[in-house]
Amino acid sequence: QAKAAGRNNVSFFDPAMEARVSARAMLETDMRRALANQEFELHYQPLATIDGKLAGVEALLRWRHPQRGMVPPVEFIPVAEETNMILHLGCWVLMEACGLLSRWADDERTARLEMSVNVSPVQFHRPDFVEQVLDVLKQTGARPDRLRLELTESLLIKDVEGTIQKMQRLREVGVRFAVDDFGTGYSSLSYLHRLPLSQLKIDRSFIWDAQKEGHGAAIVRMIVGLGKTLGMSVLAEGVETPEQLAFVMDEGCHYYQGYLYSKPLPEDRLAVFFS
Ligand code: C2E
Ligand code: MG
Ligand code: MG
Ligand code: MG
Repeated sequence: QAKAAGRNNVSFFDPAMEARVSARAMLETDMRRALANQEFELHYQPLATIDGKLAGVEALLRWRHPQRGMVPPVEFIPVAEETNMILHLGCWVLMEACGLLSRWADDERTARLEMSVNVSPVQFHRPDFVEQVLDVLKQTGARPDRLRLELTESLLIKDVEGTIQKMQRLREVGVRFAVDDFGTGYSSLSYLHRLPLSQLKIDRSFIWDAQKEGHGAAIVRMIVGLGKTLGMSVLAEGVETPEQLAFVMDEGCHYYQGYLYSKPLPEDRLAVFFS
């Protein structure tokens, strides 16, 4: 089998890789069990206007594992995408988030709030994605113009024409779109203006870098300018300190999100933000 590690340390069977593969297989099995067991839940992070009023929330998936406690999405979403389990999970997220949106419509304190939902490329590029969203809206009775779907740059550059078509069909009923983690991917300026986008969410790495030496501040300024030129609102992600808030306010961001305003919360703890 594997050669004893020689002078060159060449070994065909990499034990570290083998361990990763089996850990992944175990995670996949565990996720199937969790899905059936209803261990997934949504938390909601408040999104604020730059002057500190609640504008809406972003739905964020959580896995309450019986042994491991809360498992963060970075650990399980990639696996869910590789195994297509994200299709089921993503549909559940939409249904859950739109259900809340629909309940919000009955209360004047919450009726104008927006719900942002993250969409995986695996979900979006399915041929029936548009029908799925329309179906969820119909079933829950949520107002389409209060729903915002967050897409990543890499999702947008794959099959641009097909992407534009899907976005336009949902735009027609009022659904809006944001680019998530903007600046970290490979958006091309040549088609960004062709996509029916309403918001750029500046990745938190640029907000954090802005206080340091280097180009963070210049990049934030550039993205705000770009968003405004293209008629989009601009949201700063990951604002943790008053200094960062002062900075993004100075730069003209319209919205912000981050631990300074609020961490993601379970639904029953959102009420303190309503007024
Ligand atoms: P994202 O969409 O960029 O979501 C923002 C992430 O930043 C969240 O992490 C949030 O908790 C975190 N965050 C917000 N403010 C701050 C801050 O001030 N400081 C720091 N350090 N972090 C902050 P979370 O919940 O762990 O989610 C990570 C990523 O997982 C999300 O990034 C999104 O890409 C993905 N994700 C979460 N829920 C879903 C989902 O329902 N579907 C899909 N497809 N992806 C999801
Ligand atoms: Mg997001
Ligand atoms: Mg983001
Ligand atoms: Mg992010």
